Amino acid sequence: MGLRSLRELPKAHLHLHFTGSMRHSTVIDLAQERGIWLPDALKHQWPPVLSAADEKGWFRFQRLYDIARSVMSTESAVRRLLLEAAEDDAAEGSRWLEIQVDPSGYAAWFGGMTAFTELVLDAARHATTSTGVQVAVVIAANRTRHPLEARALARLAAQYAGRGVVGFGLSNDERRGGAGDFARAFTIANRAGLISTPHGGELSGAASVATCLDDLGAHRIGHGVRAVEDHRLVDRLAESGVTLEVCPGSNMSLGVYAQLADVPLRRLFDAGVSVALGADDPLLFGSRLIDQYAIARDVHYFSDPELAELARMSVRGSTAPELVRTQLLDEIDAWIAA
Ligand SMILES: [Zn+2]
Repeated sequence: MGLRSLRELPKAHLHLHFTGSMRHSTVIDLAQERGIWLPDALKHQWPPVLSAADEKGWFRFQRLYDIARSVMSTESAVRRLLLEAAEDDAAEGSRWLEIQVDPSGYAAWFGGMTAFTELVLDAARHATTSTGVQVAVVIAANRTRHPLEARALARLAAQYAGRGVVGFGLSNDERRGGAGDFARAFTIANRAGLISTPHGGELSGAASVATCLDDLGAHRIGHGVRAVEDHRLVDRLAESGVTLEVCPGSNMSLGVYAQLADVPLRRLFDAGVSVALGADDPLLFGSRLIDQYAIARDVHYFSDPELAELARMSVRGSTAPELVRTQLLDEIDAWIAA
């Protein structure tokens, strides 16, 4: 049974952060080039040992993320990051990549959020042409900042709807700032035709997932795994068809679950919830997209037909146009038929 190549399984990648997607060798390169100090956790002790089960651990994660982001201050660095992210996805059978970025964290280096967003979109188009992986962009607001900032970002995202931006997200520590405060921002994004894909149910429990559904009109939820703490919510997710972007490697690294086997991937799947596997931040967690599928196979005993279904759910949960979806779904059928 099984042992078809996971690399050859066509899939969509729906949960990957911009700086977090960077190759480890690239952060080393760029830091050296620009004389930026890197802590050992990003050099010799990589990948870092993290645990964000408490606020201190989350702070450590954020601090490392911010240091890594500081190498992304030039146009060539941004272009390199997007090209390499697409190349790495291509090597793992990903055909459609939605990369998530908060432009406010980079704006100062590029003359503002609009200029940075245009650079990212142009780099994404080049990466698409060079690799064959179609790269789309999700603009994400930071939930630890003022909701007005999120609204400004939503208006920016709305401007580029249909021109490379496909969704609007909300990231950072969900224990700080309830998602409901950001409802207006999500309304702006939704009206422009962008899907709503906030993080929830990672560092907080099921109630946080419910808020994403009720107040933000979530089409997908980043993580959402802790929905299992409320079985009625699991039923609701299954009925609604909302996709959870489940990132087992990330959950384990951040201490959301103590072991990979504890990530409720099997439970959600068996309950009929749509699940799309994602890598989140390979730079900080040391595991990429293909590793998540390997975890499903090796730790959660997904059979090849079940792995094919995970890939189908990633495609169905994506914003890929109908033609791309049909083609990918056909290729997934061919993978399982082989
Ligand atoms: Zn994330």
